[in-house]
Amino acid sequence: MRLDQMYQEVILDHYKNPHGKGLVEPFDSQVHHVNPTCGDEITLRVKLSGAAGSQVVESVSFDSQGCSISQASASVLHDQVEGVSLDQAFLTLDEFSSLMKSATAEVTLDEELLGDAIAFEGVAQYPARIKCALLAWMAFKDAAVQATSAAQPAGDE
Ligand code: ZN
Repeated sequence: MRLDQMYQEVILDHYKNPHGKGLVEPFDSQVHHVNPTCGDEITLRVKLSGAAGSQVVESVSFDSQGCSISQASASVLHDQVEGVSLDQAFLTLDEFSSLMKSATAEVTLDEELLGDAIAFEGVAQYPARIKCALLAWMAFKDAAVQATSAAQPAGDE
């Protein structure tokens, strides 16, 4: 099987069996993002745990509608950032952003951080679809930042 066919399979599998779909409680923040060029929409919730500075992404859930790329990307996002430290989640987000620029720029990718997200490499060649792939990730970034600023301060040192 060719690599791009394998990648297609991964995306199709996440599209058919999305991970993290269905909004859960409790949550620290909720955002709603749209990609008007394609009509994709996502509502995403984030719950963090731990003290400020060493927070962990306890849960990421979403409800979404739209094209297969946007749906599959949200599922992959869930897999890659739920249960990891907030620092690692943001690093993964950076990696995914780099991946989306890989068609036009020289980038070095950390495949371990990306996991199944590497399957979206081919999407980088289609500028119109990049926003579809990034939708869930930008929603996560927004929600995580909101959740961080809502968190209790660690206390006076
Ligand atoms: Zn789309």
